[in-house]
Amino acid sequence: MKCPYCDATGTRMETHAHLGREHIDRVRTFRYEPKDQLRFALDCPFCEEGLERVANPRGREPGFLEEFHREIALVAFDLLLYHLHAAHAELVGLPAIPPEASQESAG
Ligand SMILES: [Zn+2]
Ligand SMILES: [Zn+2]
Repeated sequence: MKCPYCDATGTRMETHAHLGREHIDRVRTFRYEPKDQLRFALDCPFCEEGLERVANPRGREPGFLEEFHREIALVAFDLLLYHLHAAHAELVGLPAIPPEASQESAG
């Protein structure tokens, strides 16, 4: 497959490692004040449907984001790869998922 951000190619695993090495700055981490949570967000390079998740439901530990930014980024890129596979498979050179194979219930 091809990296969604540059021309690097490799297996899905290699691309995942490449994303964590070369594109870690694409993952934004921030504090969600209303719930005092630490969250991360990552935009899809091909559509408006970015992803956002809670990284740590209790956002009180100082240094959490710095310490775990890499782990958070790898989780975010894993989610992005699932999204790319499901929505933009041909753009990154992944085999498209046949409709009957993607019957996991949403939510
Ligand atoms: Zn790249
Ligand atoms: Zn997308």
